[in-house]
Amino acid sequence: MRLFALAAVLLLVAPTPAASARAETGAIFGLPFVEPPGPSTWLLGQVYGNSVGAFARRREWYRAGQGIHFGIDFSARCGTPIVAIGDGTVLKVDAPEHGSAPHNLLIAHPNGYVSLYGHLLERPLLRVGQRVRRGEVIALTGDPDLTCTSRPHLHLEIRDRTLGRAFNAHRLIDADWDALMLIGSFGRGFQRDLSEPRKWQSVWDQPDIRFGGPLLNEFQDTWPRNWR
Ligand SMILES: [Zn+2]
Repeated sequence: MRLFALAAVLLLVAPTPAASARAETGAIFGLPFVEPPGPSTWLLGQVYGNSVGAFARRREWYRAGQGIHFGIDFSARCGTPIVAIGDGTVLKVDAPEHGSAPHNLLIAHPNGYVSLYGHLLERPLLRVGQRVRRGEVIALTGDPDLTCTSRPHLHLEIRDRTLGRAFNAHRLIDADWDALMLIGSFGRGFQRDLSEPRKWQSVWDQPDIRFGGPLLNEFQDTWPRNWR
């Protein structure tokens, strides 16, 4: 009886396949918000990767990132508090050379990654070299169009220390991305290369990028077809 009870407990606490898959990916960072997702807090806006929306803008907005949306967008009202996704040190405040206007913030983490928070409402009140803790409020969300009504969102990237590469942030942030993709997202589907139709069709297998490298998604035969 006792053994049976133990087995039942083990079954209850055993990780689900989805949870163990995330653990294997090394999801070492947290989400950039304290509040849980929802219509009055934040929702996933656009995934990292070769989303249908990124593909459409591959030669314009995302040209520098090999045609891939090289961060994750979180839709949120202007002024929503953003927290650090990990312990670290402020690397740059307002660095226009890294995009994501009107304001951005870069934090260097001891594990060698750098997180970039973009489209901020105002210049963050932090000094370069200042230490921040995971979960500490560091900035406020804004809108790249400066209206706070057209597309207010946080654009979050995870780069290497040289800032020359961006990684698939879904693999590095501990969150239930499959559930987050169910609601509120724009351009959440992935563009398909019909010569290799299974390639890059989930958040987990989107490619890392190298800034300034060639486009990765100049597909000859592609779906959906109604994009340029
Ligand atoms: Zn973005």
